[in-house]
Amino acid sequence: MIYDLAVIGSGPGGYVCAIRAAQLGLKTVCIEKGELGGVCLNVGCIPSKALIHASKTFYKAKHGAHMGIMAAEATVDMTAMQQWKSGIVTKLTGGIGALFKGNGVERRAATARIDGRAGDVFRVQLTDATGATSTLEAHYIVLATGSAPIEIGALPYGEAIVHATGALAFETVPARLAVVGGGVIGMELADVYARLGAQVTVIEALDRLLAIFDADLVRPVQLKQKKLGVKHLVDARVVGHVAHADGSITLEIDQGGGAKAGAKTGDKTGAKTGAKANAAATRETVRLDFDKVLVSVGRRPNTANLGLETVGLSPDAHGFLAVDAQQRTAVEGLFAIGDIAPGPMLAHKASYEGEVAAEAIAGHPAANDAACVPSVVYTDPEIATVGPTLTELVDQAKKDERSLQIGKFPMAALGRAIASDATEGFVRVVADSDTGELLAVHIVAAEASELINAAGFSLEMAASTEDVALTMHAHPSLAEGFMEAAKAALGQAIHQVNR
Ligand code: NAD
Repeated sequence: MIYDLAVIGSGPGGYVCAIRAAQLGLKTVCIEKGELGGVCLNVGCIPSKALIHASKTFYKAKHGAHMGIMAAEATVDMTAMQQWKSGIVTKLTGGIGALFKGNGVERRAATARIDGRAGDVFRVQLTDATGATSTLEAHYIVLATGSAPIEIGALPYGEAIVHATGALAFETVPARLAVVGGGVIGMELADVYARLGAQVTVIEALDRLLAIFDADLVRPVQLKQKKLGVKHLVDARVVGHVAHADGSITLEIDQGGGAKAGAKTGDKTGAKTGAKANAAATRETVRLDFDKVLVSVGRRPNTANLGLETVGLSPDAHGFLAVDAQQRTAVEGLFAIGDIAPGPMLAHKASYEGEVAAEAIAGHPAANDAACVPSVVYTDPEIATVGPTLTELVDQAKKDERSLQIGKFPMAALGRAIASDATEGFVRVVADSDTGELLAVHIVAAEASELINAAGFSLEMAASTEDVALTMHAHPSLAEGFMEAAKAALGQAIHQVNR
């Protein structure tokens, strides 16, 4: 039997693609070497959100005396928290199995490798967990093999030095946690373990944290982490480490003089910490001790060992496969979606691309023409954006000799935010000043991950600031911040003085 479609990988890209393809009448097989659901469901988005939620619940209870919640003595049972998290993962991965059955997707538990093509039929070699091999044939292949954490030479992974998968499975809260890489994963997990009581130090190579966002969006997150006792070392790189017999690790960190280490804790060697570094140009080496080290310095696409050479395809220098608007690679019949296709490595992008590929293979008109890809970091407060950064928009507007319409509304002026004890942050809308069409929405606030979806819809529908300002929003709700920011862009804000 020749399948219409073989999907390789069952993450949010692959499983969505397989289900949609089967719905469209394609005889579909999905090949997965691990658990269904890929990184996102098993060791990424979902378990991290479970720990974020649990740690927030703990922290809020413990610090709720001002709301009359007297639970300062609350403690954490890490084993129970991990069990709760694992139960969520099991439920969701099981759900994909049920959806496969319900939609008629065949599942194969194996490692897949393309093994050439005869005419318009691809051969795929499967190797199962016992090492047994078999071959299947398909007219189309969708590669959805995701990405893997990057390892840095100074910090090889092991018992105490882990990537996100290990950090999501800590059996106890480490007393001293180093987070190497102050990006999305690093900042989310720094929050989690700081709330659970760890002393966290974030070590970031660039001169600021979460550099994909405008600096003013990151500031409230940084401030809140500082209140939790998190130390931020920027312009800092780990250049070496020493593993001790008791399992602890000393990190040797090369730090720029512009940044302040401010961390004297656990300095076994007595080396200068750099807290008083005064010459911006000087660099120094600091040594700090930790119980666990999370390395979160980015991910790279899984495009090696797929047999791409057997069909004459090779990834670019970074491991990505170039695709067209239908997710087709340069090889006819071979598609690529998700983290291995160019663009941000995000689950919702992968799912969207999976549906586009399935539709295109089924012969339907479909294109990857999303107006925006929402970007969210689940810190406290959350940051969520659609469209370019303000910096990018301002630069572009200067080049185009156009002006921008900008409206910003602080959450502290919103009744629901005050009543929810969540007044940090703001909503900003940026629009074209001639047409009023929204170009971007930037939110740093509680529930920003929920609020951003209305903003994404507005961009998709080419809405203007006036459209948003004139849309009746439920009161009291955090989403009123979006409406108020749009009103502010028009000089019509009600709950703040217009400038
Ligand atoms: P990232 O790219 O978000 O952040 C990596 C950070 O590490 C950057 O700030 C970078 O400057 C820094 N860095 C690089 N090399 C370094 C070094 N040697 N020393 C110190 N710092 C160094 O990557 P990530 O946090 O590992 O996340 C990986 C991917 O997973 C991202 O593409 C992200 O979009 C995705 N992800 C998304 C979410 C979400 O949407 N909420 C959550 C987790 C992961």
